[in-house]
Amino acid sequence: EKVEFVEHFSQVIDRFEMSRNEKNTFSRELANQNFFVWIDKDKITQVLDNIISNAIKYSPEGGTITFKAETLKKQLLVSVSDQGMGIPTETVDKIFDRFYRVDKARSREIGGTGLGLAIAREIIESHHGQIWANSQEGKGTTIFFTLPLINQKRRKN
Ligand code: ATP
Ligand code: MG
Repeated sequence: EKVEFVEHFSQVIDRFEMSRNEKNTFSRELANQNFFVWIDKDKITQVLDNIISNAIKYSPEGGTITFKAETLKKQLLVSVSDQGMGIPTETVDKIFDRFYRVDKARSREIGGTGLGLAIAREIIESHHGQIWANSQEGKGTTIFFTLPLINQKRRKN
């Protein structure tokens, strides 16, 4: 289905902002522009839900969560950044593996199965996008993903 991403992203963020979350400040840096993508809306919502809930779950000391939507090489680039505990550099790529959770002891009391990002990767790749993470232990994490933009053909008069 054809979806304008910025509007959809805003609605997902609104839902998180309205529910229980008072420990984080939300900062939106969404391009003032329409980004049309051809997506399975429910599945992309599932990806966003996991990334945003991770940012909240793994930010025990609070901090700001920053949401961005911009373009990168004719693709849509989406990112969610937190100022939480971060992920050790040597394991940052493993978080997309099934059942991988950083430091079992640390995350035992934080609920989860370790499947969220593995499913997110499957969904994004099935949309011909890519997903990756940047993280610094003790500083925070950014999850990025891309999606192909629908080519806006210039209309001839
Ligand atoms: P689930 O999403 O299945 O409920 P989960 O959140 O543990 O469980 P993933 O979303 O796949 O699983 O994330 C895998 C692991 O990556 C997490 O357990 C956590 O250790 C680490 N991780 C993910 N996002 C962050 C983040 N924003 N900050 C720090 N660590 C993170
Ligand atoms: Mg998760």
